[in-house]
Formats: sequence, C-alpha cells, structure tokens
Amino acid sequence: MPTILGSLAAFRHGPQANFCAAGKIHGMGVQAINPEVFGFPLSLYIHVPFCAAKCGYCSFYSRPPRGPLEAVSWLDALEVEAGLWRERAGRRIPLRTLYVGGGTPSLLPVPLWRRLLAVVERNFDLTPLIEASAEANPSSLTEELMRLWEDSCLTRVSLGVQSLNDAELRTLGRLHDADRALWAMGRAARSRLALSADLIFGVPGQTLRSWSASLRGALAVGASHLSTYQLTLEPDTPLGRSAPVLPDGYPFYRYAQWLLPRKGFPQYEISSFAPEGRECRHNLAYWRQENVLALGPAAWGYLEGRRYENPRTLEAYLSAAAKNFPEPLAAGETLSPRQRAVEAAILALRTRWGIRREDFAARRGAAFLAEVEGVMSRLPSRLVRDGGGRLALTPAGMRVGNAVWTELMELL
Ligand code: SF4
Repeated sequence: MPTILGSLAAFRHGPQANFCAAGKIHGMGVQAINPEVFGFPLSLYIHVPFCAAKCGYCSFYSRPPRGPLEAVSWLDALEVEAGLWRERAGRRIPLRTLYVGGGTPSLLPVPLWRRLLAVVERNFDLTPLIEASAEANPSSLTEELMRLWEDSCLTRVSLGVQSLNDAELRTLGRLHDADRALWAMGRAARSRLALSADLIFGVPGQTLRSWSASLRGALAVGASHLSTYQLTLEPDTPLGRSAPVLPDGYPFYRYAQWLLPRKGFPQYEISSFAPEGRECRHNLAYWRQENVLALGPAAWGYLEGRRYENPRTLEAYLSAAAKNFPEPLAAGETLSPRQRAVEAAILALRTRWGIRREDFAARRGAAFLAEVEGVMSRLPSRLVRDGGGRLALTPAGMRVGNAVWTELMELL
C-alpha cells in the first residue's frame, strides 16, 4: 500500500527525507546571512516544548515540564532569541504569518501566554500579519485561554483532535475523550478564531465507519480546515515498540478525498482540506519554500536556502540562551541550487496548485523544468494533471505521493 508523504509537522520539527543528505556547511554563522535579503515579511514558527504526557506515537521533541518554573525559563530564553533576531535585522521583523506549535502550546498558563504574545509584539512588526495560529489540545484548552486568544493577534486555532472515537483516542494515548474534543471544537468554532482540526487515520481498530464519524463530527461542529495524517509507527515510541498491526491507510485516505470535497472542503495539499480562502497561510509558506524564522528548542527554520535547526533539547537551548545564542544558524545545511529546485518541485506538487510552469522556469531554469516534466511524463497519466500552464498531481497522484517524490529525488 502506498504511504502518504509525512505530515506537515515534519517540516516544523525536521527536514524532509533525504534533502539533508548533502551540503552540510559547518560553522556558518548568522553574519553570513544578511537579514536585509531575507525577503520580509516572513513567517515565524515558535516551538513550545511541553506536553502533559507523551502520546504513544509521538517522536517530536516535547516532554512534561519539570516543575512550574521550567516554562518561565523557556520563555526567558525565547525572549533572548527573539531580541537577538530583532537586533540583527535592525528593526522589528515584519511578519506575514505566525504559528505557535509544539508540543502543546495550550498547556502554557494564561500569564505566560500573555507574556509570549508581548514578546512577539515587542520584537516583530505585526502590521503585515495575515494569519496567526496556535496549536491546542482539547485536554488543556480552557475558557480563560480562549478568551485571551480572542483578544489577541491570533486568528486561528489548530486543535489536536485526532479522533472522535474513545477507543482510538486511548490507543493513541491521548489525554482527552470524544466529549472533551467536541467541547473544545465547539468552543473554538463559536469564537472569532478559525478552527482547524487534526485527525489521524490508520489507527489499530479504526473502521471506515468510525473514520467517517470523526470527519463528519469535526465538520458538523464548525471546523473550517481539516488536516488528516496517517498513523506511522516510529521506532522510538511506545506504540512503535509494541508494533501493533495497522490497518491499511489507503481506504481511509481515499474516503477523506471523496467525502471532504463534497462537503465544500477541497483537498489543497496532501494532508489538508479546506474551503477556498481558508487554507493555512503559514503552511503555504513551507510549501512555497518561503522564509520561516524558527524560535524555540528543536525548531527548524528556513532562511534563503539555509535550513537550520535550533538546539535539540530544552537544556541545550537554555544553555545557548545563557551565551546569547552565539551561532544561531550553525546547525543545519545550506541547500545547493539544485537541491532547492528539486525540493521546490516536490513541495509545489504537494499542493493542488502544483508547479506553475512559467514561474518555475523563471526561477529554476527552463532546462530544470524540462527535467521535472520528463519525470512526470513517465508517471501513469491518471496521476498527473497537466493544463492551464500548470503541472499538478490528481487525487490519485496524491495517494502515491511518496513514490512520486522518490522519482523526483533521482534528479538530485
Ligand atoms: S500532544 Fe502532540 S506533541 Fe505532545 S506528545 Fe502528543 S502528539 Fe506529541
């Protein structure tokens, strides 16, 4: 069964697949990148490294806070990091999108959230901001937090619902049940914020009926964006170690591709469905290979072809903060022009807009576009949509995205 290329979270937490295989430049400091060529305004990702407990399938960097002051230390360090970027830019950096992810951002107490938003406002210019999202879990989203968010610059809540079936939620090791998820979604949907819900398919014991109920339940309660991810077993997780037999994910994905467009939620990306105009603008920045500044431990950013990684643990992050983050871009890699071009092709093909030939040829060269076209022409025609000056994957093509990326990676 073809698997679907990983979740967007992979972009936020780490680079995709083999793009990182080459091109390491050690010791490249921030002075090597002129902030004035970043292409303002840019997108900002902030990583909150705390979760109340680890879900059985999660391999992202997060853990329960060790004591009430640890989150304060994290925010102290984040403030230092944000201030340094402001200094480097010589002004408050204009932001187009903001995304506070994790981890579980809704786990932060309201006073810390207030301070986090103040840190953002002090160091970034929010005038061009078109979208600001915060991730939340149903178990930690509170009325008080929702009120604060409604009065803030935030425009969107991304809720980790995962399922509306209690047995599936238990299998995943989630802390909430379906009732709590429905409350959280309903509360967010009644607010002025847009509601996005994450849902997982391919859970042991899941049926098409229960998958349908989760999708329909999220729509019924007022979600304006759905992200659907296939459960994958990571070896370093409890679920991965217990190695349960997973159901074939293909019919679940196909069902979502059938149902959601009929409900007014066309698929606009491998994992994402939304009515037109409700797409996640921050995620589009990743798929369009735009600049994304990342703050917080284990966060990944992308600046003018350099993909950098912040210190991987909270401890390492705090110790870097104590030294004023001497080498902010040192860990990571600079993509060669060819790597950037291959990556741009793959990222564009994740979306329903695909590759716009004219733009792509202008940026990457007509010869490289011809190479991409050569790869795509060898695919079965039912996987590829070619027209209107664009080259894109059909829904059937998105179902076998991994195989398509493998073909394109041959161009490296
Ligand atoms: S809430 Fe999200 S980040 Fe935290 S452990 Fe669960 S899946 Fe991982």
